[in-house]
Amino acid sequence: MKIKKDVIVIGAGAAGMMCAIEAGKRGRSVMLLDHASKLAEKIRISGGGRCNFTNRHTRPENFRSHNPHFCRSALARFTPQNFVMLVEKHGIHYHEKKLGQLFCDGSSQQIIDLLRQECDAAGVEWQIPCRVNNTSRIHAGIAPGGRFLLETDRGILTADSLVIATGGLSIPQIGASPFGYHVARQFGIAVTPLRPALVPLTLSLDQLATIAGLPGVAIDAAVSCNGACFRENLLFTHRGLSGPAILQVSSYWQPGVTIHVDLLPDLDAAWLLDHRHSPGLLSNLIMQYLPRRFAQAWCDDIMPGQSARPINQYSEAGLKQIAAQLHDWQIMPSGTAGYKKAEVTLGGVDTRELSSKTMEARKIPGLYFIGEVVDVTGHLGGFNFQWAWSSGYAAGQFV
Ligand code: FAD
Repeated sequence: MKIKKDVIVIGAGAAGMMCAIEAGKRGRSVMLLDHASKLAEKIRISGGGRCNFTNRHTRPENFRSHNPHFCRSALARFTPQNFVMLVEKHGIHYHEKKLGQLFCDGSSQQIIDLLRQECDAAGVEWQIPCRVNNTSRIHAGIAPGGRFLLETDRGILTADSLVIATGGLSIPQIGASPFGYHVARQFGIAVTPLRPALVPLTLSLDQLATIAGLPGVAIDAAVSCNGACFRENLLFTHRGLSGPAILQVSSYWQPGVTIHVDLLPDLDAAWLLDHRHSPGLLSNLIMQYLPRRFAQAWCDDIMPGQSARPINQYSEAGLKQIAAQLHDWQIMPSGTAGYKKAEVTLGGVDTRELSSKTMEARKIPGLYFIGEVVDVTGHLGGFNFQWAWSSGYAAGQFV
C-alpha cells in the first residue's frame, strides 16, 4: 500500500490533533498516525483525570526555553480564550480551580472526544496504531508525490508536510518515545539537553531519616531554586518531596543545586523576636504556624534537644538565626523521580532551528515540530496543554 497525503502528523496527542484539525479545515488532506492503540492517553491521565486544559493567565514567562521569546508568537495567535471557546462549543462544563487553572467538571475524556470530533469534521484520516520504521526525505525527481517518505507497518506513506508531534519522554508506559528527537537529529536539527521536569525530587537516605513519619504531610511554602520561586504546597513523600511547589522548582533544579524553602512566607524576618519575652516553648510556638509533626521534625533536625526550651531563654542572636532558618530551610535533593513520574520533558528540539511563526524547521522545508518535543516547557497549571494547542494551531495554518 502506498498513500500520498498533503500532511502527515506523527503523534495523535494534544498538539498533533490540534494541528491536524487546523490543516484539515484548510482543505489539506491530513493523516494522523500514532503507535499507541489508545488515543491521547496523556490527555486522559492529565489533571488527575479532569485535564487542566489551559490557564487563563498564560504568558511567555510561564515557559522555560533556551529562547524564552520563541513561544510568544504562537501563544498570541491561539490563546487560552480560543481553546475555552472550543470547549464551550462542545458543551463541556469546566471550572477554575486556582491561579487561572481551568479543569473539566467531568472527565478529561471530554477533551479527547472534542479533539476527535473536530478531527472527523475536518476530514482527518487516522492510522492508529501505526509504527513508523523509517522516515526519509524524497529528493525531487527520484519519487514524485511528496517531500517525505515514511515506511510504516501499514505500508509506505508520502507527504508534502511532515509534522512531528510525538511529545516528550515522560511516562514511557503509555507510549512516550524519543522518536521526535531522533527525527530531528537525523535531519541535522539540534536538540537541547533533555531532563525530567515537573517531577518529584528524591532525598538521600540520611535526609529521608529526618523526614521519617512525614509522608503525607503538606505545608504551604515558598520554594525557590536557581532564581525561580513558587508559593504552593510542598508535600513529603516516602522518597522525598513532591507537591505543586516542588514540581514547579524541579524544572529549575539540577544535580548539586540547593533548594530554599521559606516555611513561613507570610511572616517577616523579625516575627520570632516579637516573642522573645515569652515563657512558652519554642517548639510549641512553631507548631502554631506549621503542621505539628513537621514542626517537631524540623526542630529536632535544626536544633537537636534544644527546642523544648522556653523562648525567653534564647539569646536575641539565637532567635534571629532560628527565624532565618525557618525562612530559608535548605535542602539538597539527591535526584528526581525520573521520567516515570515526570509530567514533562525539559528541553527538546532547539527553537533556533524552527520558525516561531510556523514551527517549520529552517533547514528542512516541510518538516514541522510542535508541542512538547520542542524546547518549550510550561510551568505546572495548564500551560503545557496551552503550548500544545498554540503550537499545533500555528503549524496547522502553514502545513
Ligand atoms: P503527547 O500528548 O505526549 O502526545 C504525543 C503522542 O505521540 C502520543 O499519543 C504518543 O503515543 C505518540 N508517539 C510517541 N512516540 C511515537 C512514535 N514513535 N510513533 C508514533 N507515535 C508516537 N499538562 C497540562 O497543561 N495540564 C495538565 O493537567 C497536565 N497533566 C499531566 C499529567 C500527567 C500525569 C502527565 C504525564 C502530563 C501532564 N501534562 C499536563 C503535560 C501534558 O500532558 C503534555 O505536555 C502534553 O500532552 C504534550 O502534548 P503533545 O501533543 O506534545 O504530546
